[in-house]
Amino acid sequence: MALCALAIAVIGVTNLSSLRSTAALPQQIYHHPYAVGLAVRDLRGDIKLMHAELSDLARTPSRLALRRFEKRMGEIDIRTAQLKVTISERFRGDRALVDRAFAAIVAWNEVRVSVVASIREGDRVAAYTLTKTEGYNQLKYLEEHLAALIAAANASSEELSARADSLLIMATYEISAAIVIAFVLLAVAAWLVLSAVVRPVGEISDAISSIAMGNLSTVIPHDERDDEIGEIARSSRVFLNHAIAIQESSIDMLTLLPKRHQMLDHIAIDRLDPERSANDGVLLHVDLDNFVEANDMWGRDVGDRLLIEAASSLRSLQGPGDFIAREGADSFLWYRCGPTSAVQAQRLAESIQTRILDQSETDSEDYPTSCSIGICFCDDSVEPEKMLVRAEDAYQDAKRSGPGSVSTYTSEMDARLFRRRETLRGLRFALNHDEILPFFQPQVDARTGELHGFEALARWHHPEHGILLPWQFLPVAESAGLLAAISDIMVSKSLKQLSEWRRAGFAVPRVSINLDAADLGRDDFADRLMIELERYDLGPQDICLELLETAMLEDGETPVSRSLERLCQLDFPIELDDFGTGHAAISSLQLITLNGIKIDRCFVTNVHQRPQQQKLIKAMLRLAHALQIRTVAEGIESVHERTVLLDMGCDVLQGFGIARPMPGDVATAWLRDFTPEIGRMDQLQQIA
Ligand code: C2E
Ligand code: CA
Ligand code: CA
Repeated sequence: MALCALAIAVIGVTNLSSLRSTAALPQQIYHHPYAVGLAVRDLRGDIKLMHAELSDLARTPSRLALRRFEKRMGEIDIRTAQLKVTISERFRGDRALVDRAFAAIVAWNEVRVSVVASIREGDRVAAYTLTKTEGYNQLKYLEEHLAALIAAANASSEELSARADSLLIMATYEISAAIVIAFVLLAVAAWLVLSAVVRPVGEISDAISSIAMGNLSTVIPHDERDDEIGEIARSSRVFLNHAIAIQESSIDMLTLLPKRHQMLDHIAIDRLDPERSANDGVLLHVDLDNFVEANDMWGRDVGDRLLIEAASSLRSLQGPGDFIAREGADSFLWYRCGPTSAVQAQRLAESIQTRILDQSETDSEDYPTSCSIGICFCDDSVEPEKMLVRAEDAYQDAKRSGPGSVSTYTSEMDARLFRRRETLRGLRFALNHDEILPFFQPQVDARTGELHGFEALARWHHPEHGILLPWQFLPVAESAGLLAAISDIMVSKSLKQLSEWRRAGFAVPRVSINLDAADLGRDDFADRLMIELERYDLGPQDICLELLETAMLEDGETPVSRSLERLCQLDFPIELDDFGTGHAAISSLQLITLNGIKIDRCFVTNVHQRPQQQKLIKAMLRLAHALQIRTVAEGIESVHERTVLLDMGCDVLQGFGIARPMPGDVATAWLRDFTPEIGRMDQLQQIA
């Protein structure tokens, strides 16, 4: 289109310059009649002069006058010839006029010749008469024709001039027309440009403005075009995608709550409020209890629904000074600005708990959801990021008190949490640097004192702190999801030790391994166990799996229940650990085929002095015997305790009274010295 306009302009200019050259033409044409006029004028002067001389000659004829006259005539002949050439060569206007002028010249010449002839014959009177009458007549006749010739020349020059003028006018019209056409074409081009370029660009620009206003469902038009407009539209799509990415990074798309970093920004902005007093505001870390388990058990869809419901419960309580965000998987953050007392914060936490529970009971009665909450009051001396950490620390503290708990951050938590984090850092290193190892504690037959087996108990050989006990690192490992990794090491090292003992000739019947729900939650757990056993040429009967009853609390088909089933199919002996301390001890007995129960140390300690404990143990033993399963008592320290348990019919004993947990090499040495007397605590019996 632009090219078209340009072409039109070029054509206009070209026309204009060609018209200018046409306008220059008349000036050349003017020159011709001027030349003719000049020639005629000179001839006229010559003829008048000659006529005067001819008159003188006729009045006073003499030889000298005649010669002078004849000379003048010769000049007139030459000039006449020149005039003829000029007229015929340069002036081609009116041929008839030119012919008449020539004829007039010829006629006048005849008069002249007659006068000269008369003078030569001496007839002065005839010459004089001729000069006076014919000469004057012819001269007048000649004059007329010459004047007509000049007039014609001038007229033709005027005509030419007029033609040139009309050409100029026409040129002017043409130029004007060209300009008008050019303008019309330019206007058309502009309209076309407007509809083809300006409008689409405007529409794209509107779409971008809409995106900038946060409307990310905006459709960007013209992105299918393969011209520059399409290019702009596609670039705008990149902008839109970028905006969506920013929104997605700021908003949690499941719950539509702002994300964690938005909370950090919000706290930082609140601190800038000039009306806010120092340390005003409180932050709550709200975490759904048992969400991970619910997600595993019922699937992601149910998990997502629980999260959406929890978010809507939170929103329904939100006041003007509250800001809510989703922090992570199942945790939310709640910031309340302004001064908040401990009682108010506690009340807020409780109303959040109630609302989440109530709503989950209404919306999804099958999956009631409780939550635990950590409270952290604002402290302007710490970064918002740190406040989030503190609120989570408080939550971790609440979580230890069980589901549905609330805890408030205190400065002592910092030290404790620092230690926890240090432990976790060290533990990660320990797992890769062979610092986790099993200690072995023997188990003996209660009656004979023969070796029943060893329980493998995890220890961390810390490079600085020496041997660490399970309570010093297992809870951290559990919260960090490292329990399975520890179990793998324990299984592998324990089986290796067992096969070494056997190769060394020690009759060690079995090694007991402690398992957690995290181990059983792995689909391939049973098969991995089989592979490890085969590696050391051992079978399922060479080990015993000690399970905490909490690992069996779950109902229905879960990864844990599937693992248990598979372990039973493969004939792994399973014992229920810490029997009597949990809540589902008796009901869990019916879930799988157990080989035994381990009566917890808390029932065993000083049992000989506590009749109540004795009654409980008796009940547990009766139950086990009814189910025809083995009973193991742990924590036997004294001969008295052993005696009571033996009398009650306990099958296997374990405790410091027989031996403490020992590293592999110490256990090997212990085995070397071991006799059933030691197993029966005979030596101690003598001391007692
Ligand atoms: P548990 O399975 O009940 O292990 C028995 C605990 O009682 C062991 O503590 C053992 O050292 C201690 N014990 C045994 N006899 C006596 C006694 O006569 N007196 C006293 N005071 N204590 C006695 P330990 O080794 O500290 O283990 C504590 C708990 O850590 C274990 O309790 C078990 O639940 C857990 N644990 C240990 N190793 C592992 C492991 O490899 N995996 C898992 N998942 N848990 C483990
Ligand atoms: Ca155990
Ligand atoms: Ca125990």
